[in-house]
Amino acid sequence: MRTVRTRGYADRMKNTFRIVPLPTETADAARRSASNGAPAHQIVVADAPGSAPCRHCLRWAEPGERMILFPFQSIPADRPWTESGPIYVHQEPCERYAATDEFPAAFREGRALRQYDAQDELTGAEVVDGDPATAIERLLGDDNVAFVQVRSVTHGCYTMRVERA
Ligand SMILES: [Zn+2]
Repeated sequence: MRTVRTRGYADRMKNTFRIVPLPTETADAARRSASNGAPAHQIVVADAPGSAPCRHCLRWAEPGERMILFPFQSIPADRPWTESGPIYVHQEPCERYAATDEFPAAFREGRALRQYDAQDELTGAEVVDGDPATAIERLLGDDNVAFVQVRSVTHGCYTMRVERA
C-alpha cells in the first residue's frame, strides 16, 4: 500500500516540461570568438548581483566574474518571427544546467513567457507573477504550442527555452 501511494505522489510531482539551456557548443564557440577578438563578443565584468545571467549554467554572475556578451539567434533568421538578441555566458567554462525537470530557482522572478508553434511562429506571450512552472505546464498542455521561450520582463532578453518532457 505504501509503495503504491509513493509512486502516485512521484507521478503527480513530475513536471511535464524540460528546460533547454544554451548548448555547450554555443557557449564554447562564444568563448573562442571572444578570445579571438570578434567585435560582437564583448568581455564584461559583472559589477552587481543580478546583472548578468549565464544562459549555460542558468546562474547569475557573481560580482567580479567575467562574462561574454554576444548575440544569440533564438529563432532562425529565415523565419518571420526571427529573433536575435544579446545574452551572457561565463567566460570560464561552466557546467551546463542539468536539473532540466525543474525551473531554475535563480529565474523565478521577473520573467515573461513567449509561446511558439511548430513553425517558430509566436502565438502568445504573458508576464508571469511568481514561479513560471505552472504557467509553462499550462502552455505546453496546448497542442498548438511547440515550445516556450523564457525572457526578462524588463530587458526582453532571452533566458532559456522550454519544451515538453
Ligand atoms: Zn555559466
